Amino acid sequence: MSGTHLNDTANLIDGELVAGGGAAADPARDPSTGTVLAEVPRSSPADVDRAVAAARRAFPGWRALTPADRAARLNALADALQSHAKAFAEAESANAGKPIAAVPEEIDYCADNIRFLAGAARSLQAPAAGEYVEGATSFVRREPVGVVAAIAPWNYPLMMAVWKFAPALAVGCTVVLKPSELTPLSTLALAALAAELLPPGVLNVVTGDGPVGAQLAAHPDVAMISLTGSVATGRKVAAAAAPGLKRLHLELGGKAPVVVLDDADVEALAASLRIASFGNAGQDCTAACRVIATPAVYGRVVEALTEVADSLRTGPTDDPATELGPLISTAQRDRVAGFVGRAVAAGASVTAGGAAPDGPGAYYPATVVIGPDQDAEIVQREVFGPVVTVQRAADPEQALAMASDVPYGLSASVWTADAGRALRAAAGLRFGAVWVNDHLTGCSEMPHGGFGQSGYGRDLSGYALDHYSEPRHVMVRW
Ligand code: NAD
Repeated sequence: MSGTHLNDTANLIDGELVAGGGAAADPARDPSTGTVLAEVPRSSPADVDRAVAAARRAFPGWRALTPADRAARLNALADALQSHAKAFAEAESANAGKPIAAVPEEIDYCADNIRFLAGAARSLQAPAAGEYVEGATSFVRREPVGVVAAIAPWNYPLMMAVWKFAPALAVGCTVVLKPSELTPLSTLALAALAAELLPPGVLNVVTGDGPVGAQLAAHPDVAMISLTGSVATGRKVAAAAAPGLKRLHLELGGKAPVVVLDDADVEALAASLRIASFGNAGQDCTAACRVIATPAVYGRVVEALTEVADSLRTGPTDDPATELGPLISTAQRDRVAGFVGRAVAAGASVTAGGAAPDGPGAYYPATVVIGPDQDAEIVQREVFGPVVTVQRAADPEQALAMASDVPYGLSASVWTADAGRALRAAAGLRFGAVWVNDHLTGCSEMPHGGFGQSGYGRDLSGYALDHYSEPRHVMVRW
């Protein structure tokens, strides 16, 4: 990996680092200033075809390696990532607008994700081989699905790329990965490392926006499409998958409720929501964005959240003291401001933030909106910014009903000192993750994914490995 990694703009196709041959470049910007960091040439249709062809050619050889050999290659990639951790953190901070203090943890997590998935693929689970029919022995083989088109969003550019390619490669699939056109730099820097560490064609990286992703998703030689992105893109990708009946893995939006019952520890809640609501400027599909509190605790929750929002340090992303950076773009900031403005026009009130500052960059303050109706768009639709709503529920039953009354089902949390009530709530809330007295914490070993409009399939954990491989029955008649 050469020089200032921010300048790595080449595609990775068949083991070669080559400039995308598309017509126009997408500029990768620093959202804290709007400065162009690099012009990243788009991949041409011919580049996408070559990348898929390379992945297809590489598939038989990669699949034939032992799981231990594949794991060794992936572990080497994780090692290389960590040995360049500072450069990756700087690239991610600059291009995605992340406060620099928050990023090293993300890079370490990416390396841990790769290592876990590489290791877990060495012990895939299946029923025991046996004689389930008289006179014959049956066993299960797990087969990689083939060439995977992996399409990533901008909010955790490198982590989302890792969550797509690591389980696929670990089980023997080959991959063509497309990062978001807004945040390609860290993925392209990883591609430069992969060029040295993985066999040609096993991991390919192409660049560009929606039409490049659409071509990749529709490609006849792609067996599976794995997207992390918006619900709208999920629908388009599902339609693109339909003619070829391709396997789909969709990690889409979220609208996480935070159910706070009267006996909750409000101090612990406030400390958790400082990160869970406002970390990454709220641009997190699991962000704690929808607080629902029962009557005795409601006032204290509003007060504590308002204090958290007012005390967050906003500033340049390269200042280690900064907690709240910019949003990804001025368009996203304007979208977030629109949600808040319409909520206030409809009768809600703002107790913190609520107005974009003057000056350069896509900054928007940590904002608390109280009293929106359950059917208000700010409650029902993903805002994807540092904005939290607080609603009052008459009792725990109503709070849980309000929590579930959205089209998404990615994550939720419940705050209570009553273990029985917590367990009943966790059983009843149909979200892919439910935390009790916490919010947002994840680990490589546990699944991440949703219900409803949040999509289907699971990232991380052994379940991700299941999704990128097919069980096959082999029966031998004696
Ligand atoms: P997006 O849907 O706009 O873009 C995601 C990716 O899809 C990008 O690489 C984009 O170029 C590509 N794309 C766009 N149109 C396409 C098409 N027609 N065919 C194929 N690819 C296409 O999403 P975004 O704005 O980059 O990311 C934010 C969204 O991602 C939010 O909704 C967020 O909730 C979601 N997200 C979900 C998870 C999760 O795990 N569930 C994690 C992170 C982000």
